[in-house]
Amino acid sequence: MYTLEKLQELDAQDPLARYRDEFELADGLIYLDGNSLGPLPKRTKERVIKGIDVEWGTDLITSWNKHGWMNKPHDLGDMIAPIVGADKGTIKVGDSTSVNVFKSVAAALKIAKSGRSIVLSDTANFPTDLYMIQGLQELIGKENCELKVVDETEVEANLTEEIAVLLLNEVNFRTGRKYDMHAITQQAQAKGIIVIWDLCHSAGAFPVDLKGTNTDFAIGCGYKYLNGGPGAPAFIYVADRHKDAVIQPLSGWHGHKSPFEFSTEYVPSDTQTRFVVGTPPVLSLLALEAGLEIWQDVDMQQLREKSLNLTDAFIELVETRCAEYGFTLATPRERAQRGSQVSFAHKDGYPIMQALIADKVIGDFRAPNLLRFGFTPLYTSYQDVWDAVERLHVIMADKKYDKPEYRVKAAVT
Ligand SMILES: *Cc1c(COP(=O)(O)O)cnc(C)c1O
Repeated sequence: MYTLEKLQELDAQDPLARYRDEFELADGLIYLDGNSLGPLPKRTKERVIKGIDVEWGTDLITSWNKHGWMNKPHDLGDMIAPIVGADKGTIKVGDSTSVNVFKSVAAALKIAKSGRSIVLSDTANFPTDLYMIQGLQELIGKENCELKVVDETEVEANLTEEIAVLLLNEVNFRTGRKYDMHAITQQAQAKGIIVIWDLCHSAGAFPVDLKGTNTDFAIGCGYKYLNGGPGAPAFIYVADRHKDAVIQPLSGWHGHKSPFEFSTEYVPSDTQTRFVVGTPPVLSLLALEAGLEIWQDVDMQQLREKSLNLTDAFIELVETRCAEYGFTLATPRERAQRGSQVSFAHKDGYPIMQALIADKVIGDFRAPNLLRFGFTPLYTSYQDVWDAVERLHVIMADKKYDKPEYRVKAAVT
């Protein structure tokens, strides 16, 4: 049973509590949407202002060398590597997740077993991943890129010797259900399938072991759990065994072996650098870098333990304190199958979330009926869980969500 006393005790013993002070979060605000947009780290403000004043403003073009701008896609990749269990040099930062989906799927199809052209994914995937494959189909033809999308419960049964590439989002962004990444990767590779994991809801949410799982490619997001800022650059991982055997079609000059020779022929770099495309977005990279600095000494096992305690507590408290109000848990109760978010279905999900936001509990809504709450152990306390459920209880008991303005859908939900 999670009582207020017990939660306060957990806060008092929390080894991660000190990280909360790294973030700009207003008093009284309970931010349960760091799985969609991480909050602003205090050091990011200083870092970006310095980047503008000193680096761009004063040192101008010399900053490419003097302030290491040129190396940011590589240096930041090396900062992400320990968070997702990868070796240095295997991760490059840049472009959006969508663009990195395109690069990785195209590259994977190139090294897939001959005669295979099917990319397998699931209906639970974040739609942009599927859209990017549909775009690739337009470009190279469906005969070279066939997309097969199955229910998440059917993925394992579909790992056959006909499949070229498997692309899955490790955590269902609606329900928070988490795949067994290690088991599925092994099963797929036993059938000769190239495996790509989308880690948007994994990187910074719990430990990931890219090397240990033997994953071929991975991609992920900078602005969710990594707190890199709105639209922050994304990342791409390419296993070392593929680094000089695989090519991707966006052959820009920053992936060239020697970009400053300005030759007319594209010659790819010998390493994962060939997955870098154009000039790095320096200001955005500086913001992401500051966000990543916070991660450098975080113990990922402590992070996972706190995340599971927070989500366990939230589930239990909503189900007991709000038992009569018609919420249905959409997230697995089984700890091993849960990411770092909790979703409840409710027929009035949208207006209830608007009422919660008005009461300073920020989560979000995913059609058709899900209230979604992200739990980010670096800045969410156990007391926050108690207070959030308390405010939800009042909203339900007083029907505070029953206002016409709460039913008007905004462009971003
Ligand atoms: C958030 C998210 C994206 C976002 O892609 P962008 O190109 O940054 O808009 C892609 N895939 C998944 C699985 C996501 O969760």
